[in-house]
Amino acid sequence: NLKCGIVGLPNVGKSTLFNALSNAGAESANFPFCTIDPNVGLVPVPDERLKKLELLVDPKQTIPATIEFVDIAGLVKGASEGKGKGNAFLSHIREVDLIVHVVRCFDDDDIIHVEGSVDPERDIRIIEDELILKDLESVEKRYDNLKKQSKSGDKKIAAQLETVEKLINHLQDGQTARTFDTDRDSEEAFKDLFLLSAKPVLYACNVSESDVNDGNAYVDAVTSIADEFGDEVVMFCAKIEAEIAELDEEEKQMFLEEMGLKKSGLDRLIQAAYQNLGLITYFTAGPKEVRAWTIREGTRAPQAAGVIHTDFEKGFIRAETISFNDYETLGSEKAARDAGKMRQEGKEYVVKDGDVMLFRFNV
Ligand code: GDP
Repeated sequence: NLKCGIVGLPNVGKSTLFNALSNAGAESANFPFCTIDPNVGLVPVPDERLKKLELLVDPKQTIPATIEFVDIAGLVKGASEGKGKGNAFLSHIREVDLIVHVVRCFDDDDIIHVEGSVDPERDIRIIEDELILKDLESVEKRYDNLKKQSKSGDKKIAAQLETVEKLINHLQDGQTARTFDTDRDSEEAFKDLFLLSAKPVLYACNVSESDVNDGNAYVDAVTSIADEFGDEVVMFCAKIEAEIAELDEEEKQMFLEEMGLKKSGLDRLIQAAYQNLGLITYFTAGPKEVRAWTIREGTRAPQAAGVIHTDFEKGFIRAETISFNDYETLGSEKAARDAGKMRQEGKEYVVKDGDVMLFRFNV
């Protein structure tokens, strides 16, 4: 399962967001929602195509793709030195694929800001610095090890040592590992360091209800930071999301329309996370079940089949594939087959987003 870690300073709206996400999961029809533990929630990935397939096939059950969200609270200034609940939280971040960094972009005198004022740029810096400091620890440890090994005169080790030295300087300059240029030679020295500041970041700007359509200067500040490093920004109002998460699908659409919004912030956040992680969806569609499956872009058919079951991958023969558009236009698997729109794809086939697939395999 793919994991997103929700981080941010205290009182920026992380729990409100997380609870809304968990509720959205619980509310979605037919979804076997489970709270793995109070801080972990499995959230369905909203997908219009899945709904359309459900209408066409009318299966016994419909199962969406999911992403796991983890509420990583407690990150404060000094966490890398063990302040707050420091180190434990930082180690949770190590396990996530994507960091969702919630930034407070709303004014509210009743909600205390730990740093005394609303200042997204400073807040982002604080969190980033903690990640960088933690990374420095890891990299310095690696440096010491390599230094010892380098006495043997191994050229590869010497090259790695050089890279790690550059990385230390880079981090000491206050720059994240994400922005460190790794060429192919230095890749080796870089991987298995599992650096926190190397993880992709999605900024989630929590704005007040009145700013949810047009944003504000705080959001602009976050956007300009994100643009500099090629990161994405999603704007939402945690308070509104908390309300929406309690509604059923129809009420939700009405509420959003009234607010002048096309999609809920949660839906946009989930979709942005999915894209940011380089994930795509393929479908299986039969009378028993219509289901969305998650794979990385570039995955070949046998490995895509392996997501369902390892036997599917091992015994893979071919994949009968219909594009979602053809399936929708023609209305059924049979109609697509009759129209010659069902392709026989082999082991080398790179699965495309929206493919509706039926795997043939040896047992
Ligand atoms: P966390 O510490 O980051 O998990 O923050 P919480 O989600 O617990 O929120 C802290 C406080 O801010 C709570 O009292 C929330 O009700 C409030 N809050 C969260 N989002 C918003 C928002 O969009 N607008 C306003 N005015 N208050 C919010």
